[in-house]
Amino acid sequence: MSRNGSLEVICGSMFSGKSEELIRRVRRAIIAKLKVQVFKPIIDNRFGIEHVVSHNNVKITALPVDHPYDIFDCLEDGVQVVAIDEVQFFSKEIIQVCDALADKGIRVIAAGLDLDFRGEPFGPMPDLLAKAEIVDKLRAICVVCGQDACRSQRIINGKAADYNSPLILVGDSKEGYEARCRACFELPNKSGSCLSAEELPLCFFGAEQ
Ligand SMILES: [Zn+2]
Repeated sequence: MSRNGSLEVICGSMFSGKSEELIRRVRRAIIAKLKVQVFKPIIDNRFGIEHVVSHNNVKITALPVDHPYDIFDCLEDGVQVVAIDEVQFFSKEIIQVCDALADKGIRVIAAGLDLDFRGEPFGPMPDLLAKAEIVDKLRAICVVCGQDACRSQRIINGKAADYNSPLILVGDSKEGYEARCRACFELPNKSGSCLSAEELPLCFFGAEQ
């Protein structure tokens, strides 16, 4: 096992600058004359499939791959840094792939959404965050109140998306996303999978027994 390998994860909500930070790190590695390869899942076709593009329009070349194991097949000799954008969209095998690359001595930089539109952990992210040597959790700005935002609010036809709304919309529905803080995040019809404030033990709030 090489001593140089490691896994860095950049996570956060939409509009928190994850792709920008990934691009910044890749550029620094290129300036340092390291051999870098950038990958992204094929599912993300927001800006065309050959680039990672941040919201402020800075871009770098990325290779779109379908399955995490495709990264092994596409790996060039002597690569020292592997960057992966939108890593949350990959299947769970991406965890093994990141681990194996880091064990081989490669510096792996992965960027992705930590939470989905329901505010729940996104795909492989919990494992990647746990295995990473370095984690950076970036925050956006809440469009409602201006505080730091940690959630991606899904909006369908101008309203906060229902907990049960389909992942892929069909027909004429219009959807978008906003960065919101915990307090301004709305999720209509979320069923009681966790305790409500009334159900929590009183001591949780520091009340006297
Ligand atoms: Zn807010």
